[in-house]
Amino acid sequence: MALAFDEYGRPFIILREQEKKSRLQGLDAQKANIAAGKSVARILRTSLGPKGMDKMLQSPDGDVTITNDGATILELMDVDNQIAKLMVELSRSQDYDIGDGTTGVVVMAGSLLEQAEKLLERGIHPIRVAEGYEMASRIAVDHLESISTKYEFSATDIEPLVQTCMTTLSSKIVSRCKRALAEIAVKAVLAVADLERKDVNLDLIKVEGKVGGKLEDTELVQGIIVDKDMSHPQMPKRIEDAHIAILTCPFEPPKPKTKHKVDIDTVEKFQTLRGQEQKYFDDMVQKCKDVGATLVICQWGFDDEANHLLMQRDLPAVRWVGGVELELIAIATGGRIVPRFQELSTEKLGKAGLVREKSFGTTKDRMLYIEKCANSKAVTIFIRGGNKMMIEETKRSIHDALCVARNLIINNSIVYGGGSAEISCSIAVEAAADRHPGVEQYAIRAFADALDAIPMALAENSGLPPIDTLTVVKSQHVKENNSRCGIDCNDVGTNDMKEQNVFETLIGKQQQILLATQVVKMILKIDDVITPSEYC
Ligand code: ADP
Repeated sequence: MALAFDEYGRPFIILREQEKKSRLQGLDAQKANIAAGKSVARILRTSLGPKGMDKMLQSPDGDVTITNDGATILELMDVDNQIAKLMVELSRSQDYDIGDGTTGVVVMAGSLLEQAEKLLERGIHPIRVAEGYEMASRIAVDHLESISTKYEFSATDIEPLVQTCMTTLSSKIVSRCKRALAEIAVKAVLAVADLERKDVNLDLIKVEGKVGGKLEDTELVQGIIVDKDMSHPQMPKRIEDAHIAILTCPFEPPKPKTKHKVDIDTVEKFQTLRGQEQKYFDDMVQKCKDVGATLVICQWGFDDEANHLLMQRDLPAVRWVGGVELELIAIATGGRIVPRFQELSTEKLGKAGLVREKSFGTTKDRMLYIEKCANSKAVTIFIRGGNKMMIEETKRSIHDALCVARNLIINNSIVYGGGSAEISCSIAVEAAADRHPGVEQYAIRAFADALDAIPMALAENSGLPPIDTLTVVKSQHVKENNSRCGIDCNDVGTNDMKEQNVFETLIGKQQQILLATQVVKMILKIDDVITPSEYC
């Protein structure tokens, strides 16, 4: 099918001969879409919460990922269906904005779709359902605001921040070390945060990993770690008070390109050329020394001869450093990236108190630590772990924890987790439905039921009977007027989430509800699905 225009500029559709299309209309279209959305949510449902299961995904080239992070699972799942892709997008948006709650948002959307299906079957028009959901989501978001509390912390008292990060980490594979990792994440965020402006630049936190060691060896380095080593094994492994030239230009004599022709027909000519080349590089090294550089970090490579010369002239160098890393090094050391060699000058050099090479295990693996930098704002979280999968999953979990700490610094309102916020909203929305005169009240009530899906999934994943548990907790909410009661997933003995220290940020929870409602409304409004026949 193609859109074309005739000579008067009027559009018309060209259908190739025998091209078959499949077309779903009206209720059938909505039902098919809802089924697709629900099936994606069903996959993630078992991953929700501290006792959630992990998924193992294999990419076409054989890479295996084990994860519990909703956004990553959906990212790696090769989905073909357009509606399923919307759910993937949904999780990704939550990840971009908030960083945490990526599983919950999809489970929530799936449950809204399930409830919507029942309403459609009863003959309620999709638009009325969508409108009812919109109203209910606003009630829920306002209610969340009313049950939220301010979480006080300061740069000196970081315990509250650590507790919140621990909640996020408790549902991940790395929960064994959640305390240590949460502390690392909070310290990293505070190192780059501007508490007065309530701003955090997460780009200044580098997360680096190396296979080997234990998860407990994970550390926060005040500076930058680069997965590179000195270009020559005999160069010094430790440079104190380093003045660093950061180059993105080639650091070697210009090579004759193929389109230029140099005729070398005598030994003398060859010697001259070689001498000139050497002198050119020698001058470059001298220039670095003249401006006071004691270390050169270069984006490009240089050949063995140049490397040898650098060693002889006592100028340590690191080659093939990536662009992003160079930028971070420049920020941390207060240096400037030099794109043209002629522009190198003393004031463009970065300064670091200590640059050292550290080797790991018995392998030839070495990494470069750039510490005690002039601008201590950039930090690195260096993860250790038994295998690559573990390191990757730890990186994802740390990312979630960093986002949570960042969100709290931007806005320190929190709601309690473990499904308590959802149950409280569900009760509030249900009550609001009774006050609503129109047909939308069915949708509002359905929204309240959909909110219950989160505590039910948490209970189910922890091996508790979902309906019984929910009923008990819900009645506790109403009887005791206590919005902190949630699901006691870890069998601690109390379901007061305040006592269990299970929190989530208010903006994260609100965003979950808003995003899930938005996507479900979008899906409900589709009443015509036209696909080429090979997809049907
Ligand atoms: P997401 O990717 O959505 O963050 P998680 O698998 O991290 O999904 O699960 C988060 C859910 O688990 C939240 O609803 C949170 O309140 C809940 N949760 C986390 N820790 C606990 C706990 N110790 N007890 C009960 N619920 C918890």
